[in-house]
Amino acid sequence: MLKRFLYILWVSVFLVLLFLGVKNGGLLTFLDSMENRTFDIRQSIIAKSHYRKHNPNIVIAAIDDASYEYVLDNYGEWPLRRDVYAKIVDYIEAQNPKSIAFDLMFVRSMKSDEASDNALINIFKKYDNVYTAMNLDNQPQDLRLPPELSLPSIKPYPNTDDTVEYSNCRIILRGILDATSNIGMINVSRSSDGVLRRMPLYLKYQGKYYPQLGYLLANDLSGENGLKNIRPDKEASVILNWYGPAETFENIPLYKLIKAAEGKEELDYDFSNKIVYFGATASSLFDIKTVPVDKVYPGVEVQTTYVNNLLDGSLIHKVPLGVNLLIALLLAIITVLCVFRISSMPVAFCLSATIYTVYVMFTYYAMQFKNLWFEIVNPLICVLFAFIVTVIIKYLIKSRDFDQQYKLATTDGLTELYNHRYFQEQLQVQVNHSNRYGNPVSLIIIDIDFFKQFNDKYGHQSGDAVLRQVAMTLKKNVRLTDIVCRYGGEEMSIILPNTKYEEAVNIAKKLCTIISSKQFKLTNSRESNVTISLGVASIGEDGVTPSEIIESADKRLYNAKENGRNRVN
Ligand code: GH3
Ligand code: MG
Ligand code: MG
Repeated sequence: MLKRFLYILWVSVFLVLLFLGVKNGGLLTFLDSMENRTFDIRQSIIAKSHYRKHNPNIVIAAIDDASYEYVLDNYGEWPLRRDVYAKIVDYIEAQNPKSIAFDLMFVRSMKSDEASDNALINIFKKYDNVYTAMNLDNQPQDLRLPPELSLPSIKPYPNTDDTVEYSNCRIILRGILDATSNIGMINVSRSSDGVLRRMPLYLKYQGKYYPQLGYLLANDLSGENGLKNIRPDKEASVILNWYGPAETFENIPLYKLIKAAEGKEELDYDFSNKIVYFGATASSLFDIKTVPVDKVYPGVEVQTTYVNNLLDGSLIHKVPLGVNLLIALLLAIITVLCVFRISSMPVAFCLSATIYTVYVMFTYYAMQFKNLWFEIVNPLICVLFAFIVTVIIKYLIKSRDFDQQYKLATTDGLTELYNHRYFQEQLQVQVNHSNRYGNPVSLIIIDIDFFKQFNDKYGHQSGDAVLRQVAMTLKKNVRLTDIVCRYGGEEMSIILPNTKYEEAVNIAKKLCTIISSKQFKLTNSRESNVTISLGVASIGEDGVTPSEIIESADKRLYNAKENGRNRVN
């Protein structure tokens, strides 16, 4: 009873905690961030293995610390004058690159002289393979009024209704906006833990959709067939697949390009067919992100990773929820089978853990070779839950089996009284107890009178029926603490703890009367009565060992028979 109450209490508390956890979202957020961590670990291991090769034709014109200092020393100001960028573009374009993209914004508000601005604007008029960036935002600054963009917008993917929407915009030079449509957004999306794992394909601004810089560039480069293997989520973002730590892509320091473009020093590098990305890699310039493979990762390398992923179709895809559920279910079933089939709990635990580990290995290889993200945390929760529940159920079944076995071993099949073995055990226990604490214990031995004749007259079946009814009657008419046993054949015995000889004799007399006045049902709806003879003995007066007491009670039973039966002695 108490056991059952505790189980119900335990299950209720568990369900309430689960409900609260799910309701306030804490549990789901926690599981989600754990899953993200497993993604980061998988990505880091794969990235370190150098299994995945990045596109060697993507190269970064890196604004590193050395370049920053070079610009300050030689031009006396930062940022770099826009006409110098124009010169560099001209220099690279002379070698026929595929594209040049600026992961930089030529913002209108930044102080610059008009001639420099025009030089850069002319570059965008001159080359149709040069791209630059803008940034949408939601900052409520009065100065940052929402301008209308003249850029061509794109068609969104179906089922991307939750696309991130912006109400404001960081405007760049009007001249560039008018000169080119090669302008992409450089907004990034971060997970709740601040790590950058996804990139949006496009964003919504004033009811229209504008592409991410990398998406725009990759789309233009993909040719007639278009980009493959893109399955954005509801927010129109895709999951990046990392090629390695920072500086995986080739970096050419900006100052070397400046020197080459200004004709000061030769640069021994061939830009033909390259995709050149300009961007800050110096941490002092703050375009640094935390990504799964690194805490300090230049924003421009995020962009190049993104373009590279889009071009080689290696974005990560989350496996559909249904598949994850199915796997979780399958693992849970295997765990249940392990626990049920294997008798040793540690072995069952090790086997379940091994199967789960194999699954984790599988998810790793699925990510490495198929770019698939199979969930790890939710299946683990299912496996743990299945393990715990199965262990509890197994324990309950085992304890019930044990109870049954114990009952079988101590009960007589015909009368359902305790059997002879249990009688001997209990008598010993009671005798020990009495000898130790001095409490009285009595024993009654009962034998049915003329039972042989009874059997002969009514048949063995009726004899059995009477035996059962006599047993039942005895049991009903003594205390719960008294131990009624089948001593053997048609003889029964009752151990009466805390009962003196006189009391036991009275009880025996009462039983004798009850039995003799009762009509017992026989087979074929007949009825008959039987009588019993009883012998009583007690510890102390009649002996101190079980055999002495049994012998004494037996003797008195014999006397009762001698004296005419249906009586107590
Ligand atoms: P008494 O009054 O001297 O005890 O006479 P009795 O015939 O009962 O003699 P005794 O106790 O020696 O006989 C035991 C008989 O009880 C023998 C057997 O036929 C019967 N008996 C013993 N066990 C069972 C049983 O399980 N079922 C049935 N039907 N009869 C049993
Ligand atoms: Mg007998
Ligand atoms: Mg008898």
